Parts: sequence; C-alpha cells; structure tokens
Amino acid sequence: MKRCGWILTASLLLLPLSAGAQQAQAPDPAPATQPAAVQPAVVQPSAQPAAVQPVSATPGIALAPQPAARVPVSVDQVVDQIIEREHALINFLKNRTPLVEPYLQNLAPDGKLGAAPKEDHYFLGRLDMAETIDRRDYLMKQTSFQKNLMGGVTKLFRIQYQPMGFSWMVFADRQNFDRSHYDFHYAHREFLGEVRCLVFDVQPKKGAGKGMFEGRIWVDDQDYNIIRLNGTYVPRPKNAFFFHMDSWRLNLVPGYWLPAYIYSEEGDFSYGSHDKLAFKAQSRIWGYDLAKNTREDELTQLKVDAVKDESPVAQDASPLEAQRQWQQQAEDNVVERLQEAGLVAPAGEVDKILQTVINNIEITNNIDLPRPVRARVMLTSPLETFSVGNTIVISRGLIDTLPDEASLAAILSHELAHIVLGHNLGSKYAFNDRMLFSDESTYQNLGFRHNPEEETAADAKAIELLKNSPYAQKLGSGGLYLKQLSARSSVLAALLTPHLGNGLTDSKGEVTRLAALMTSGPNLDDSKLDQIAALPLGGRIKLDPWGDHVEMVKAAPVAITSVRDKMPFEVTPFFPRLTRLGTGATLDAAAQNSTK
Ligand SMILES: [Zn+2]
Repeated sequence: MKRCGWILTASLLLLPLSAGAQQAQAPDPAPATQPAAVQPAVVQPSAQPAAVQPVSATPGIALAPQPAARVPVSVDQVVDQIIEREHALINFLKNRTPLVEPYLQNLAPDGKLGAAPKEDHYFLGRLDMAETIDRRDYLMKQTSFQKNLMGGVTKLFRIQYQPMGFSWMVFADRQNFDRSHYDFHYAHREFLGEVRCLVFDVQPKKGAGKGMFEGRIWVDDQDYNIIRLNGTYVPRPKNAFFFHMDSWRLNLVPGYWLPAYIYSEEGDFSYGSHDKLAFKAQSRIWGYDLAKNTREDELTQLKVDAVKDESPVAQDASPLEAQRQWQQQAEDNVVERLQEAGLVAPAGEVDKILQTVINNIEITNNIDLPRPVRARVMLTSPLETFSVGNTIVISRGLIDTLPDEASLAAILSHELAHIVLGHNLGSKYAFNDRMLFSDESTYQNLGFRHNPEEETAADAKAIELLKNSPYAQKLGSGGLYLKQLSARSSVLAALLTPHLGNGLTDSKGEVTRLAALMTSGPNLDDSKLDQIAALPLGGRIKLDPWGDHVEMVKAAPVAITSVRDKMPFEVTPFFPRLTRLGTGATLDAAAQNSTK
C-alpha cells in the first residue's frame, strides 16, 4: 500500500474539529496547498448548472410539474394550493416505508444544568405511510417505548398520537386537511434558510373533531408546499397527552418536501408549574428511497458478485489468499445488506474523513495490512462501533457527540486494534443464505460482539497505537469524553445500548471501552465553559432522508455562555438550513454521490 504523502499531513490533524465552542464542525478551511488530511467535508457548490435533478435515479417517481413563476394570487387560492400539495405529498409517500427513529429524553429539573435528562427511550421502526398505519419494529424486545410514544398506556402518563400513530406528526392531518375542518390565517412572509415562505396559522373549526392540528405552517412561495409544521393537537383529551412538535421537511425530490426531522417537547420547569411529564425528543426519518422489497414476508436477494478478481495473473488462490477472499466476501455481504436495510449510509465523504484518521494511526504504527481498512457510517443514534472484516462501522450518534478528531481517533483505534489483532468476526456471512432475512429482523440476524478477552486485548492494543499516533498528545479529549459519558451513563441507557456491535459501557453503565484513557488527563469540570467533553446529538452529521447519504454539518461555532449550553449527549431542536432542490450545496453533493 502506498501511503507516502499522508505522513506529511499528519501535523494538520492536530487541529481540533471543535475549538472550545460547540458544534464547531467547520473550522475555516486551512489555506494549505495540499489538502489537509482531515477536514470536515467541505462541499463545494457544483460547477454544473443548477438544473433541478432528482437526487435518486430510482425509476417510477412521479415528477411533479414544475410551476411557472407565480402571479399574485388571493389568499384563498394559496390555501387551496396548500391543501392540494399536502394531499399530493400524502399520495406520493403512500407506498413508502421509511425508517423512523424517535429518541426521547425524559427531563428532571437540575439546579445547575436546568432541565437535565433523567432517563431515555429509543425506538427504531418502519413507518408505513399507507392508509393503515402499521409499523414494524427492528427492536423486538423494546416494546415499552413503542407503547409510550405510539399511543399506549403506561403507569405514569399517556401520550397519544391519535388516531394513526406517528404519521400524525408527519402530516398536518392525513384525513381532514381541508377548508371544512380548518381555518387558515395568513401571518407573514419569512425566510427559512434560503427558502422564502408564507406563514399561516391553522386552527380547527369549532366541532371539527378530536386530535386536530393547531399551530403554524410555513409554505414555500412557489409551489405552496408545507415545509415546516409547528404546533400540537387539540382538543387535549382528559387523561391523555398531546405534545408539541416542530416538524421539518426537505426538498430532496422535485416538487416534494419530505418529512425529515421532528422535534417534540413538553414540560415546564417554571416556578409553580405542576407539570409532571417533561421530555424532549428527536425523531428522524430516512430511507424513503430504499428498495421496496422490505415486507416481512419477502426475503431480499443478494447479489453474489461482490468479490472482484483483482489478481494480476490468472492463478489459483493459495489457502491463505482463499481465507482472505472469504473474509472479504463476508465483509461485502454484510455492508451491502446493512445498506439495503437503511442501517448504513452509502459510501461517501464522511467515510473518507474516518479513513484518513485511521490511515494516520496506521502509518505512524507501520501497520501494513493486505487489504485496506475501510470505514462506514451506521445511520442510527445509539453509540456503538463494530468491525466486520476490514470495515469499521461507527454510528452517527457517536460521531455526532465526539468533541474532536483526537477522540474520534481513540474510538476508531479500538476497532482498528481488533483488525490488527485478527479478531475477525462475521466470516460466517460469506455464506449468502445467512444474509436472507427480512430488514426487520436485521438486529436478530447480525451481530458483531467480541468476547471480553478480545475486548481487553483490543483496548490495550488501541492505547499502544494511539501513543504512536499524531494524537498521542491529545488523548485527554478521548478521556474527557468517556468521563462525561460515565457521568451521564445512568440516565442514557437507551443511547448506550448497542444493537449490532459493542457499546462503550457495560450493562450497568460502567465505561468499559478504553477505560484506561480516563485515568489521566483533565478532570471533568462543568464550570469550565471552554471544556467541551461531548457534543449534543446532531452536532456533526447531516442525513439525507431520501438517499441516506451523510455529510458533515457546516455550522459556525457558537460560543458557550453557560453550563446549560453544553448539553452533552442531549437532543436539541432542529433548525436545518433549508434550500430548494438544485440550488443548495447539500443537494449537489447528494446528487454527485448518487451518480457514483
Ligand atoms: Zn471491541
């Protein structure tokens, strides 16, 4: 393997990704003549004409007619168009079954931190947008959150999405969104990101029914698609609970804005408040464009041509080569299967950043493996990593919360250590019959957990690798991250529960991964505002819910002004920068990826 050249850039890697400010994902691009070995994915606007193009080449997507420039119309005409477009969206999505991932943190008042998480709940399922709402659950054992969030009853409280579950947060009203049930009042114009919007207040008419949407909608001023919904459902039933939500959509296919992020929150900690229930929750939706063969009763067929013959001369494989090809086949099978299930992002820019960090550890340790180590992003929030063959998989939530490159290197070094030590898992998946299972049972059929002896050995090797790496002087940040995790682990059990790989803590919340890093370095100190041990969720990775591509968030650093701003591992509201399809760098990047 040729790695000359990378070593020269190693010193650049010591630049933190986040310098004393949260969500500092985008340091100014260094004016270096060579590309810095690690930088957040800086997406250049495409030089190509900004023609409207579908992000995906999936056939069968009805393209909405592109409207001509609007002539001034009456408010009534606009409202008619809003209603028509919302019904068109419901129709467009009715055969799709995207993944939905609500993650909820219950809150309790904390003198220092304000409202702090006291427990959490995680759910991952498929959202069936058809008339009958029927979700399927990846996490068969975890039904309690499903009951909580999806309309069941618990001892403490009742939350309802009436009458049709989660999809009520996705659409304003999937049954009765019309003039006979709602009043629309024009409020004002406003920009959301680059998109000029008309803002309407929406109220159900008197006696219109139960569980009606009440709140505000933002519609784009060209097609009058709803692009953001903010409100709740009324009337509030006795003994039940409709919470408030803020639902955002992204323009990723021509003519439609797809529901992508929903933030929900409830609770009031002001003096004299009697709220017993307080929580905040992020729900992400993705996988709209996944293959449609995801029904429980269908098996996904695998291609068997995953192994390319790259040998220079036609010759038979030696036993050792055969063994390696076998492992490669398993690795390719697993990664492909996880991508088909919507659990791993397609190969992209974030992988390259991860691979560069891995490369830096490899060169400084003179590791030369017969096959290159690759990295992929798991799309889910729980903090976990695993490796299969030479591919390291790291979850989106974990990347989100790591404060800088050195802590990322620490996490990756552990999986690299497994690979270096030959702790290869998953070769049984080279048998293709083992890959024939429904998406919904992925978590039951795949698993990449090492035994405790291998974990201990990998940790020891990882520390050794790190000490020789460009990150040797910055191991404190990884240690600080784990200390912060340790401080919060008792209230974040769901976030810390891995589903395919190994987590960072044991079942009691004790940090096990790289625990040696916690014995040195700075002490965790909330009162130090420049000490950022861990970031909130959503701080780094942006997810394209149509094609599942990921990229690094480009957010300017925001100064931390109080300990309450730190919010390590917490969910926060969403405020995506909205762009129209074809005009934003985001979508150019997505389109480029999809053509690779
Ligand atoms: Zn491990």
